[in-house]
Amino acid sequence: KEELQGGTIVEGEQKTPVKLKLNIVFVTSEAAPYSKTGGLGDVCGSLPISLAARGHRVMVVSPRYIHGTAADKIYAGAFDADCRINVNCFGGPQEVAFFHEYKDGVDWVFVDHPSYHRPGNPYGDSFGAFGDNQFRFTLLCHAACEAPLVLPLGGYTYGQKCLFLVNDWHAGLVPVLLAAKYRPYGVYKDARSILVIHNLSHQVGASFMGDIGVEPAVTYDNLGVPPQWYGALEWVFPEWARAHELDKGEAVNILKGAIVTADRILTVSQVRIHQHFKCIMLSWIFMGNNNCGGGYGLHELLTSRKFVLNGIINGINVTEWDPSNDAHIAAPYSVDDFSGKALCKAALQKELGLPIKPNCPLIGFIGRLDYQKGIDIIQAAVPELMGEDVQFVMLGTGDSNYESWMRATEVAYKDKFRGWVGFSVPISHRITAGCDILLMPSRFEPCGLNQLYAMRYGTIPVVHGTGGLRDTVETYNPYSTGPDGSGTGTGWAFAPLEKGSMLSALRNALRTYRDYKASWVGLMKRGMQQDFTWDSAAAQYEQVFEWASTDPP
Ligand code: ADP
Repeated sequence: KEELQGGTIVEGEQKTPVKLKLNIVFVTSEAAPYSKTGGLGDVCGSLPISLAARGHRVMVVSPRYIHGTAADKIYAGAFDADCRINVNCFGGPQEVAFFHEYKDGVDWVFVDHPSYHRPGNPYGDSFGAFGDNQFRFTLLCHAACEAPLVLPLGGYTYGQKCLFLVNDWHAGLVPVLLAAKYRPYGVYKDARSILVIHNLSHQVGASFMGDIGVEPAVTYDNLGVPPQWYGALEWVFPEWARAHELDKGEAVNILKGAIVTADRILTVSQVRIHQHFKCIMLSWIFMGNNNCGGGYGLHELLTSRKFVLNGIINGINVTEWDPSNDAHIAAPYSVDDFSGKALCKAALQKELGLPIKPNCPLIGFIGRLDYQKGIDIIQAAVPELMGEDVQFVMLGTGDSNYESWMRATEVAYKDKFRGWVGFSVPISHRITAGCDILLMPSRFEPCGLNQLYAMRYGTIPVVHGTGGLRDTVETYNPYSTGPDGSGTGTGWAFAPLEKGSMLSALRNALRTYRDYKASWVGLMKRGMQQDFTWDSAAAQYEQVFEWASTDPP
């Protein structure tokens, strides 16, 4: 049995713009193009611009990561705001600085501290996650709470009447601090916080007591949150998850604190509440459609807050992802003239060292090499898939076992398979443009952006029908006549998640590509004509802002 939550949001662009013009403060561990490891960076790099264009004053607070690579030049336009503050946490005052760049109507604010200056990515390096992530993101949250009060951006501070958009666990202490550190002293009385959960699983990751948002209970004193608020963050692991019989499983969970204290909670696809085997759960964000296994214990808590919970599907940055104007790809193209796409395919085949075969279907995969992304299903299917006349390219980094498998598979199928181990935005654009099919067998997918980019580039998504993938990809139906008589749908959504159903969806796609060209063109056109701009999503966000702002905290 399935119910949809979130009836208060009217989908589509509002005809009358909301009257409320707000001071909005995004707090995030990533904001593209400055920093990005996945969809969080994309969203926090583009939604703020959309909201600023709609008349709000928008600030984005994220760390100033210096990895010692060419990418660091991206901060060249961000100048020292000449403001140092001391935040009290981890045993004493910690000095942080702020850098600032005003671009695309948004105040991009970067918190500077030596702990953000190290090789790797925002969260770790080749040895794994950084051991001091709790410290690094606690600093971010304290600094983000101070930024609207102390930074005179463009001459004026944002002041206390702000709306904080708190993204994932890294920003999760912000609503806790508003409730525990500021409001009792009359500060931020009229501020509101909205927790946006992009990926619930990032709070725990592979190890339960990792350095990724859940830490031993003794670390609570480091957080700079008054002792009486311990209960808000308290987290007890089930017995089976404990390392030792003396281990009482006591921990602090920052995301839990955010779920408890935020004024509103949003996720990035529709909220579905499933009732299955007497287990009420929120599988919209987790583990596919009917799987009780996921949730890491937060389902019940989220269910208890369902009255403040809603879901809004992400938009995409249609300026950065525009096949008619994309500096990364070999030739421009549009829905009116696809000829450039064939050039992009040939250029990609050449770049990858694959035979340049215009009629051989080229399948792509882009993403984190993680259990979430269903790489194991691809691994199981590759031997059979390679029996077909296809080419397949995968781009990703992550689990070293998957990386080794990609390298070995490339050697085994040298005319058909390429495994590009690395993180490269230009290559991701070239794969999106040059491929015919984009494969996304994600085990769970809160929203997913690659399928949206693929459709915009006339590349047909074949996806596991879960979460945001299920909400955005409509399976091709040749028997239903669309406006141009070529059927309906924009791709293939298969279920259940297993090799057989994925291969059968892929074979349907391959047959359509080879034997039914007009239908394929129809699929491409329908995908390219979808409206995935942020505008309608931003209008839905505004409805939640209004809802939050008119209620007491
Ligand atoms: P998630 O946030 O779970 O990683 P999404 O599909 O929401 O997944 O967003 C992934 C984003 O990260 C997309 O913009 C995608 O192009 C990008 N991305 C993922 N892996 C790579 C990579 N190896 N190189 C370049 N971009 C990547």
